[in-house]
Amino acid sequence: MHNLDFDILDLCAPGIRGLKPYEPGKPISDLQREYHISDIIKLASNENPLGPSPKVIAAVRQACDELAIYPDGQTHELRTAIARRHSLAPECITFGDGSDQCIELLTRCFLQPGTNAVISRHAFAVYAIVSQAVGAEIHFAEALSPSHPSSPYGHDLDAMAACIDEGTRVVFIANPNNPTGTWLDQDAMLRFLESVPRKILVVVDEAYSEYVEEPGYPDCVQWLERFPNLIVTRTFSKAYGLAGLRIGYAVSHPQVAELMNRIRQPFNVNKLAPVAALAALSDQQHLLRSLQTNRAGMRQLEQGLKALGLKWIPSICNFLTVDFARPAMPIYQALLRQGIIVRPVENYGLPNHLRISIGLPEQNLRLLAALKQVLGS
Ligand SMILES: *Cc1c(COP(=O)(O)O)cnc(C)c1O
Repeated sequence: MHNLDFDILDLCAPGIRGLKPYEPGKPISDLQREYHISDIIKLASNENPLGPSPKVIAAVRQACDELAIYPDGQTHELRTAIARRHSLAPECITFGDGSDQCIELLTRCFLQPGTNAVISRHAFAVYAIVSQAVGAEIHFAEALSPSHPSSPYGHDLDAMAACIDEGTRVVFIANPNNPTGTWLDQDAMLRFLESVPRKILVVVDEAYSEYVEEPGYPDCVQWLERFPNLIVTRTFSKAYGLAGLRIGYAVSHPQVAELMNRIRQPFNVNKLAPVAALAALSDQQHLLRSLQTNRAGMRQLEQGLKALGLKWIPSICNFLTVDFARPAMPIYQALLRQGIIVRPVENYGLPNHLRISIGLPEQNLRLLAALKQVLGS
């Protein structure tokens, strides 16, 4: 098509002009098309390698009979279940087409030109993209700090607090964080929440919380009454294995939820996702199996990486971010040629790292064998 004879950027909302779109993990079908290979494994997007519970599949099949009918815009049944789970009023919950959408709704409610969001340097990329899109500034807090020499990739809450000024409306914290797998304990989180002015919203993204077994890890939802400026997001995309269906939620003060509800599309959550989420919640056995698979896979990968002389950022999630001590893009590409998709994290300021999701035992083996070959040649 011909180029436009004017600059379309002049028409575009200012926040969008400098924006780079989020780069998701490469889909298996892309690699099949480009390299004409089959038997591809994707360890790139922190999906559950076991897939969802069989109960989910059965429930979704049944729900297919009603696909012609709009979903319940209030997501009543799942709302009730989640409210009960967290001992919260149903009106504290906002569902999203993935928890990413909840994060986006929050930025549209509270950020605009002249305001800013505080984000840690290597934090999940979506926060900065959606904040910038609405014209807000980003105050990046350095992760590397003398106060946390043991975890130079983690959130430095002191540095984050120092980034807050009169323009700050939202602080984003991923706990644990993707792509670093680092986490904050209860004491650190409480101290931070107590120090932040009540008029600044603190969004704690707990996308990986189900995987965490560390005793000091806080379930921030319990503090909602105490800190009305706190918002916690959760998702069914990771441990529950529903990434393809898109459903997550935010818990917040009801007045925050009411604002999000004003701009939410009336049917932002599709018909099948809440059915699947309810079934997933009902099968805690499958969740335990998933955590067990992850734990064993983590040990397997750590041992294998160690044998290859590699270092990684210690992670409590379902992925490891490996430091190759040299530009990692060629390694990523060499793995692609072997039919293995992992995730470059250059966009996170980590050009020497690759993020590898924990897979099934045979997938982890194949990854390690391929890495050995790639690094040896
Ligand atoms: C994967 C991920 C999400 C969410 O994804 P949805 O699929 O949109 O629910 C949110 N935060 C972090 C840190 C993630 O890694």
